[in-house]
Amino acid sequence: MSQWTEFESKMFELRDLAGATGILSWDQETFMPPKASASRGEQLGTLQALYHERLTSPRLEALAAELGGKADLSPIQQASVRNLAREQTRAKRLPSEWVRELAETQATSVEAWKVARKEHKFDVFAPHLEKLIRLRRQQAELLGSPSGEAYDALLENFEPGMLTGRLEPLFAELRAHLVDIVKKLAAAKAPDTDWVAQRKWDLGAQQRLSEVLLAEMGFDFEAGRQDRSTHPFTQGAGYQDVRLTNRFAEDDPFSSIFSALHEGGHGLYEQGFAPALHRTFASGAPSMGIHESQSRLWENLVGRSEAYWQGHVSHLQRAFPEAMLGVTAKQVVQAINKVEPSLIRVEADEVTYNLHILLRFELELGILRGELNVRDLPAAWNEKMEKYLGIRPPNDGVGVLQDIHWAWGEFGYFPTYTLGNLYSVCIFEAAQKALPTLDADLTAGKLLGLREWLRTHIHAHGFTLGAEERVQAATGQALSVGPFVRYLKQKFGALYGVAL
Ligand code: ZN
Repeated sequence: MSQWTEFESKMFELRDLAGATGILSWDQETFMPPKASASRGEQLGTLQALYHERLTSPRLEALAAELGGKADLSPIQQASVRNLAREQTRAKRLPSEWVRELAETQATSVEAWKVARKEHKFDVFAPHLEKLIRLRRQQAELLGSPSGEAYDALLENFEPGMLTGRLEPLFAELRAHLVDIVKKLAAAKAPDTDWVAQRKWDLGAQQRLSEVLLAEMGFDFEAGRQDRSTHPFTQGAGYQDVRLTNRFAEDDPFSSIFSALHEGGHGLYEQGFAPALHRTFASGAPSMGIHESQSRLWENLVGRSEAYWQGHVSHLQRAFPEAMLGVTAKQVVQAINKVEPSLIRVEADEVTYNLHILLRFELELGILRGELNVRDLPAAWNEKMEKYLGIRPPNDGVGVLQDIHWAWGEFGYFPTYTLGNLYSVCIFEAAQKALPTLDADLTAGKLLGLREWLRTHIHAHGFTLGAEERVQAATGQALSVGPFVRYLKQKFGALYGVAL
């Protein structure tokens, strides 16, 4: 057996284990009966341990090292070796005692966070967060960070190759623009959106509509499905098997529509990897940020555009004949683009959303650099909310305690959301240039041209280049805040009739 064949068979096993883990996790959030949770935990634990053992086996390590230097491998083979070796190195640097301590701390921390959030008592959560931060600092030390910046080692978990030193100036520039835009829009006349919550939106019709919209954007229901869960998510579970979830609320049809477009964007990425990448470590996205660029592109650039609703308001009228009585496309566009400083990140609009992220990024950085203590986190949070958005949370439940990320001790994740937004505009603009009829196509519901362009330039390549390099190859542009800011000013300036 050649070295490559041996490496490949071991790599295939790892991908199969990961796919099976994915399916079990998806089932846990969708169909699993509640009493199965203990046995599911055991099964997942076993699969993960097996994965870790196989990934870090001395034989596979030797194979990766030998193949890593070979120039006669194809680009996909080279990327597979590189990506597997990277994962291997990081896994090997974390001792099993550390992994176990993190898992145990996370489990108790999430429970404490739930209580703290409900009772608005940060003190209940603070000692757990302190412990998690200690573990993350250890993780950064174990993984190592060439720049000496601990945050870089954590960022690498989600955004390989990205550095804090790059994000800080980029985000500071973005923040200055956003604070200014939000101030100007807050002073303008807000559209009337009360009609949405005042009407009743049939749940069955919402589900059918979400499936129609997903099929229209080219999501393949023969290679995926949409089911219900408490929080919408996408789980790629293997080749031609992509699981989306959604939720439906009677007082708001747009929540499920935008979740469908968002998760559908993730889903198209997962369905779009070239067949040659199947079971290799070159399949998958190069980073969370570029994955998020695809969900945001469909959710915001397509789904919150005037062009899309000019053509799709008829879908709403057919799905909800009573609730939509007398509602125009213009009213829909205004309602889904209402800009309003608000407390909760996941409910924030396109303009204010990134300020929620920048605030979290700055606090995470302050904590990891030892410039901010956990006990001072709520006050620092509220101060930044006031400074950036002009509002102050009445309690920590809707402030510093609102997200689950810190309850898991996930630091370095939040920036990927903003990177996704920045990338999404760059990518959409490049698609617009390549597809001159795109606006008319969005109105006509002819979305397959856009999907094909994204597939050719982003999806099909998987993780054969880093995220930034991939976006640059697809768009000819380096990462910057310019296109995103321009897009916001143009769109919301026109919608609100103000100069931004
Ligand atoms: Zn997403």
